Amino acid sequence: MNIPEIEFRPEEEIRRFQEEKLKTALAYLHARSPFYRQMFAENGIDVRDIRRLEDLRRLPLTDKKDLQRRNEMFLCVPREKVIDYITTSGTLGDPVTFAMTDLDLDRLAYNEKISFICTGTQPGNIVQLMTTIDKRFMAGLAYFLGLRALGAGIIRVGNGIPELQWDTIRRIKPDTLMCVPSFILHIIKYAEEHGIDYRNSSIRKIVCIGENLREQDFSLNLLGQRIREKWDVELYSTYASTEMATTFAECRYGCGGHHHPELIICELIDEAGQPVAEGAAGELVVTTLGVEGMPLLRFRTGDMVSFHTAPCRCGRTSMRVSPVVGRTNHMIKYKGTTLYPPAMFDVLDNTPYVENYAIIARDDENGNDDVLVRVGLYCRPAGDTVKDLKDRFRAKIRVAPDIEICRADEIRKINFPGMSRKPVKFIDNREKTA
Ligand SMILES: [Zn+2]
Repeated sequence: MNIPEIEFRPEEEIRRFQEEKLKTALAYLHARSPFYRQMFAENGIDVRDIRRLEDLRRLPLTDKKDLQRRNEMFLCVPREKVIDYITTSGTLGDPVTFAMTDLDLDRLAYNEKISFICTGTQPGNIVQLMTTIDKRFMAGLAYFLGLRALGAGIIRVGNGIPELQWDTIRRIKPDTLMCVPSFILHIIKYAEEHGIDYRNSSIRKIVCIGENLREQDFSLNLLGQRIREKWDVELYSTYASTEMATTFAECRYGCGGHHHPELIICELIDEAGQPVAEGAAGELVVTTLGVEGMPLLRFRTGDMVSFHTAPCRCGRTSMRVSPVVGRTNHMIKYKGTTLYPPAMFDVLDNTPYVENYAIIARDDENGNDDVLVRVGLYCRPAGDTVKDLKDRFRAKIRVAPDIEICRADEIRKINFPGMSRKPVKFIDNREKTA
């Protein structure tokens, strides 16, 4: 159960290590990837000239549209070598297919194993997976493989069904939950309504996925605080995606997701595609290392994050990734302010009388961004609700969107449509987002 040594090496050594891995990755793409071989030829690129991490900037970026339009061209192996097929949602409507070989599944297991180690999970711990393991998703399978490699016990309960979650906790006594954090509030509510003594249950730790738990200064955000107020458990945040096939997991000091240098190269770019200044937020661009089936080169994740390079108190020197500021294509320019939906979620999550909500971005008559917030209430507070909500928005994000008070059951239908894994809280009806 060793932590990879490279995570403790000086920055310069990590860089040299990654540059060696990069050479291998580029040679592999040149030899095996129809998409990248064509890209190199069209741009007159000799991959042997790309030696340093900075040299990557000479290569074009890959985005989700490339993956969608030329999906098959990314596959580097004959189809007989593919073991697992996965899909991820694309920006053009149709999902993108990812194909994983036997080696890729081993890499995925290794990735999750060292990420769980980061969260202090050990052989002998019992982890209840409250995530979907089928339905063409990568995540649930990855956690299973990683925990198996680590030697931890696993209970595959899947998502939803609070009654089954609590029945499992009572019967098998896991110490760890793996879960979307907003669902934790849901199972706490269920426990309170059904007289379950959750505070004295076997659970000591929750490893969270899919939603932020922290602000940019690493203090708990409202969702994190609400869980912690109710339940004294250790909370860990993780960040990952299917395309990256790599996880950034927090250690016990909770100050960003640790980078695994053997698995992925990370860059941050601004809107013009240029590297951002040290410490500034930008779009995360990744180059996967050691992927056999569908490796990616300079892939635009669409996630806005920042990097923290100071050594961590856990002893790791590898870079840490901040909580996601927002999605680049969800950026809203509203009344002179740049906004991302998570900042608005925070205002609404922080308002005690708000039960649920949906934020709708749309074009105004001049083609500028406009925002409507539809809100369902637990109860109507005294005074002018719309004015109170607008004041709360102004205090936190300086501008106030249009507010429409709706029935909570109406909003619930928007939040939980059939196939979605996470609640849908942001809807983008703008023309230009294609
Ligand atoms: Zn750390």
